[in-house]
Amino acid sequence: EAAAKAAAINADNGAPTIFDKIISKEIPSTIVYEDDKVLAFKDINPEAPVHVLVIPKFRDGLTQLGKAEQRHGEILGQLLYAARIVAEKEGILEGFRVVINNGPSACQSVYHLHLHVLGGRQMHWPPG
Ligand code: ADP
Repeated sequence: EAAAKAAAINADNGAPTIFDKIISKEIPSTIVYEDDKVLAFKDINPEAPVHVLVIPKFRDGLTQLGKAEQRHGEILGQLLYAARIVAEKEGILEGFRVVINNGPSACQSVYHLHLHVLGGRQMHWPPG
């Protein structure tokens, strides 16, 4: 299946990802929020009217949430708080979803930790 194939191609090997070029602005993106630690930009293939990715500017081993260690606690909190700022800026504070896909069985395709902030429509549960 396509998702499994994509995940297999994009194994967590610690290689640079496309998000490095987004952070360096070599690749353009629509930035929603930025500070010295965090960047939030619109997903190129949105799954909802609002679909923003929130990433750490310094990956520091966080290819995926499953690699988190205690020392990452501060940046993890900053990412979650940035998701809230994004929700407010995008006008979806009343209802939004934050998703982290971790590893092949969750269809993670980019191995640089990222939070998906989704909203602007009725979200359904359970997710697929
Ligand atoms: P999936 O691809 O299955 O959603 P991830 O959770 O790893 O897996 O999400 C990576 C996200 O990055 C995707 O939603 C994809 O649309 C997005 N993306 C990939 N390249 C870009 C880009 N150049 N600009 C913005 N978003 C991108």
